[in-house]
Amino acid sequence: MLIALALSQSQPAAAWGNEGHTYVNRVAAQKIPPSMPLFLRQAVAEIAYLGPEPDRWRSPSEFALKNSQEPDHFIDLERVSWLDPFPPGRYEFYRKLYEKRAATTDRPDDYLPEHVGLQPYITMEVYGRLKASFREYRQLRAAHKPTQAVQRAIIFYAGWLGHYVADGSQPLHTTIQYNGWTGPNPNEYTTEHHIHALFESTYVAANITAQDFSAFVKAPEQLNDPFAGYLAYLRTSNTMVNDVYAIEKTGGFNGKGSAAAFDLTTHRLAAGSQMLLNLWYTAWLESAVPVPDHAPPTPAVK
Ligand SMILES: [Zn+2]
Ligand SMILES: [Zn+2]
Repeated sequence: MLIALALSQSQPAAAWGNEGHTYVNRVAAQKIPPSMPLFLRQAVAEIAYLGPEPDRWRSPSEFALKNSQEPDHFIDLERVSWLDPFPPGRYEFYRKLYEKRAATTDRPDDYLPEHVGLQPYITMEVYGRLKASFREYRQLRAAHKPTQAVQRAIIFYAGWLGHYVADGSQPLHTTIQYNGWTGPNPNEYTTEHHIHALFESTYVAANITAQDFSAFVKAPEQLNDPFAGYLAYLRTSNTMVNDVYAIEKTGGFNGKGSAAAFDLTTHRLAAGSQMLLNLWYTAWLESAVPVPDHAPPTPAVK
């Protein structure tokens, strides 16, 4: 029964495991520059705690929550290789996928949004929440009003965002090869369903600390186009899927692990922290750009 349940899950239960997610958020929080608000720089412990937060939303005891958010953790980029550019909103993305599904006879359900994954969309949606709360913070400060409540919202959004950004740095969260090779297999990679948790949870928990990759994370840079930059980051992760399988094939994630395992893992965790820090920084800078008080009226919107 438990085995059947485990095999029926579309993705394993945790991404980067509790340790990896906590490290990615903590390292990014420790690198928040002095040009950003002090309260955020002082929230390292809270932000680190929130790294694994969406993995706490996977219990069958909260079915609607579990069901709604599971596709947020991954995207199978091979299934959307025909889609360029990605539309900016999730409902336009759904529409493209349903059109593709309707035109497909071989395994059409592979194109259901919940099977493809919604990684870049949830990331931009939480990014938007963070940016909006930064804007509110700026307005309250300018009006000499209390900011404690919005500060708490900002810390929550910043920490929550970190979860998805860290998932995106894990190559196996960007691929149909998420847990055992499928399809043509010229390199004879493992087809068993263990590589995902072995890499991101067991190996990381036993062998990696935040100090192992903190020095790789530099001062943040503003992203000109956060969505395009984030998609490029996911595609870079996807180029390392083969590397993960090659390391597994040599036993590199077993026990103390290999030098190649350590190198790849620390650099992927660092890439996650760097992208997270860049997104926080970009949200902060973009939140200073004035927006109209009220959106212009749009006809025929329910
Ligand atoms: Zn995972
Ligand atoms: Zn996740």
